Amino acid sequence: MEPTPPTSRLSNQMGYQRIATEEAFAPPEMLDIYRKLLAHSDVDPGFKGLMGFYMSSPSARAQHIMRCLQDLDQIRLQHMDEAGIDRQVIALTAPGVQVMDKATAVSFSRLANDQLAEAVRRHPTRFTGMIAVAPQDPGEAAKEIERGVTKLAMNSVIINSHTQGEYLSDSKFWDIFAAAEAHDVPIYLHPNSLPRNMIQPFQECGLDGAIYGFGVETGLHALRIITAGVFDRFPKLQMIIGHMGEALPFWAYRLDYMHRATVASNRYESVKPLKKKPSDYLRENFYITNSGVAWEPAIKFTQSLIGVDRVLYAMDYPYQYAVEEVVAMDNMQMSAQDKKKFFQSNAEAVFKIKS
Ligand code: MN
Repeated sequence: MEPTPPTSRLSNQMGYQRIATEEAFAPPEMLDIYRKLLAHSDVDPGFKGLMGFYMSSPSARAQHIMRCLQDLDQIRLQHMDEAGIDRQVIALTAPGVQVMDKATAVSFSRLANDQLAEAVRRHPTRFTGMIAVAPQDPGEAAKEIERGVTKLAMNSVIINSHTQGEYLSDSKFWDIFAAAEAHDVPIYLHPNSLPRNMIQPFQECGLDGAIYGFGVETGLHALRIITAGVFDRFPKLQMIIGHMGEALPFWAYRLDYMHRATVASNRYESVKPLKKKPSDYLRENFYITNSGVAWEPAIKFTQSLIGVDRVLYAMDYPYQYAVEEVVAMDNMQMSAQDKKKFFQSNAEAVFKIKS
């Protein structure tokens, strides 16, 4: 087959733009901080297994990913052109600042957001940025959300799942939810490597990473947020989860049934009645992207559960840069209207993108 010239893959001819909504970057200065953390003898095993691998592996794939992660100009734009991606919604790659000490995390989140905002100013029709925050300091995270929205024109927040084993279901973090709700910006709950107290049974069989462990841990995190009553307290708060909802759509029936049964049994102090069923919060407070899952039946099932307005396209660049997956998504048996929602309109609405 003849390779398609890059510009013809851009979607003027398709009837929709392709907006990829879970795309990653890493400032070189963050990797310097990571190198120092990785040199510690008691370094977090999940962090070591993830970034320790990517930053030191001689494999061509790892080195390529590290090069792409640090680029916010020509390499990235060329790959976008080759894959037919009109726009990337870009976030600080996992674990972002969440593996750092509190002071470093707060100051580095600002620096990373300034760098990303600068890249968006250079390429305003190609890039959209997410606001990185340091959950280690919820008050400062709330302030950074405000700064990101009002000063940097960013309209979404990235949080890379747990922060050193702590979950946003703990009310000490809820200033972050209050700020996101007040500024009407969604929080993208992206995977992180597994926390210290969870990783062993996954890592010993090589299933701790993107193959399975990330989804289990991030799905657990989203569920903890639901069952803690976060959306009863912040009903307008919106979250985004990737990887086809980290399997939660497939769990919806059992979650509803067993949550009801668990509440009725008074078995756990932590399981209190909610205003709605767990699956209602999935429908009303979550958007789901197909990052890493270019699989039509899973996309359609999720659309049927939470609605065609809540399922978005994502690639997961540069970790899963796969042009053939874009073609597969273009070829889904789906109405032109719904396909445009999936690739373009939903992302424009969620991230307040003005094209
Ligand atoms: Mn990702």
